[in-house]
Amino acid sequence: FMRVIVQGEQEEHGDSSKTGVELLCVVKAVLKKIKRRVLVGDKVVVGSIDWVDGRGVIENVFQRSSEILDPPVANVDHLLVLFSMEQPTIEPFMLTRFLVEAESSGIPLTLALNKTELVDEETLISWKSRLRSWGYEPVFCSVETKNGLDSLAFYLRDQTTVIVGPSGVGKSSLINVLRSNHRSSDSFEGDNLFDPVLGSKWFEDQRVGEVSTRSGRGKHTTRHVSLLPLSAGGYVADTPGFNQPSLMKVTKQSLAQAFPEIRKMLKDSEPAKCSFNDCLHLGEPGCIVKGDWERYSYYFQLLDEIRIREEFQ
Ligand code: GDP
Ligand code: ZN
Repeated sequence: FMRVIVQGEQEEHGDSSKTGVELLCVVKAVLKKIKRRVLVGDKVVVGSIDWVDGRGVIENVFQRSSEILDPPVANVDHLLVLFSMEQPTIEPFMLTRFLVEAESSGIPLTLALNKTELVDEETLISWKSRLRSWGYEPVFCSVETKNGLDSLAFYLRDQTTVIVGPSGVGKSSLINVLRSNHRSSDSFEGDNLFDPVLGSKWFEDQRVGEVSTRSGRGKHTTRHVSLLPLSAGGYVADTPGFNQPSLMKVTKQSLAQAFPEIRKMLKDSEPAKCSFNDCLHLGEPGCIVKGDWERYSYYFQLLDEIRIREEFQ
């Protein structure tokens, strides 16, 4: 069974009374047959609706704007890369790997640094300017003291976010804070329900036999992902994303685009370009990317790693 939240956007019917209603749905057999997997976050068409019992059948899946595999969520439009100031401290190369992985997904990202209460003001200021030089504006927060969580909420607003980052930085703690602020699904109940077929937002994936009660999430023995609705609008996945960036989707040619520093140098020198179309910016003749920036050696190192992987594929 999958839980679907009705979004009352269907103009034909002009009825928004069902917005937010939850339907427990099965996936139509034909979709399974053509291997159209329905993911959490998918927008789906639901038919054969029984409004009284809150049941329906997922008949089709709309095209996705994005899709990530770990955790499996469709239509993610925001990645929150979370690191911590201490326990563990920021390891710049590791942070770069996460940023590169996130940049390569094409999904907009926010960089947040947690556990700020464990360091002094000077440390924060110096990391802020360091990360700015990388091309990022970090959001500082502390799940412990709740400092900065408001501004974080601002970045999460109206988006579907997956939180990624190494283990121990506070991803689960942050999700728990967000979960405890989350709207109760009971408030979605309505009664005069009669209209079929809606564009709906897929929101929870549960296997057969794990039917939860309306308000609770119950205990789930198998892995599943849910999108938690945020009070300011939007959703956050209750399962953190990759904690070991594989960089499998990054190629030698695409790597440069994952570095804001390189993107900026290329943009600033427009209309001039590197002499070679396939320039890797390693000091080739006529290359306009200089080597005088902090992460140049990381770029170099990652390029090597990708080169080796591509040769062995
Ligand atoms: P995850 O592995 O990224 O999901 O990290 P967890 O959420 O499991 O947190 C790891 C540890 O860091 C736990 O002991 C949390 O209580 C602690 N933690 C989370 N946020 C903060 C914070 O803002 N400050 C401090 N001091 N500890 C925190
Ligand atoms: Zn170049």
